[in-house]
Amino acid sequence: MRYEDRISIGGTLVWYYYICKREVWLIGHGIEAEQENDYILLGRYIQEIFYTRKRKEIMIDNTIKIDILPGRKVIGEIKKSSKFLESAKMQVVFYLYYMKREKGIDMEGVLLIPEERKRIKVSLTPELEREIEEVIEDIGRILKLEKPPKAVKIPYCKKCAYRSMCWA
Ligand code: SF4
Repeated sequence: MRYEDRISIGGTLVWYYYICKREVWLIGHGIEAEQENDYILLGRYIQEIFYTRKRKEIMIDNTIKIDILPGRKVIGEIKKSSKFLESAKMQVVFYLYYMKREKGIDMEGVLLIPEERKRIKVSLTPELEREIEEVIEDIGRILKLEKPPKAVKIPYCKKCAYRSMCWA
């Protein structure tokens, strides 16, 4: 896989990679999900109302959208709960990796979970850098599959916007 193709993979796909590989394929292939899903709506609502004065959303290279906490080289990612912490952490790791590889800027990350009043620091360690490179490679492999990976029932399916497609 060429480096340019790898790096065009966004943070959202990294988040889903740790939840469901089938969903990675569906999103990556532009298959429309149910937009009125309560879980998606709640996520958007929390993004909109919390920390609006303390963060600045910027789009970089038309590829990644990140929230910068002003005055510091810190990428902030807001989540509604710490339930999918590993996914959320690796999403931030991806942004840190992108900024380092593409822009030559070393940054720190923080996960903000307003409803739980939590702030969790995320740093790009050499181990995490290796892990995210493997994940990017594997996402590329999944996206090249002709069909999505088979649906496997997991607890997240109950909240998933694709549930009617997978389990109708
Ligand atoms: S409903 Fe379940 S199997 Fe289907 S995409 Fe969502 S999480 Fe994956």
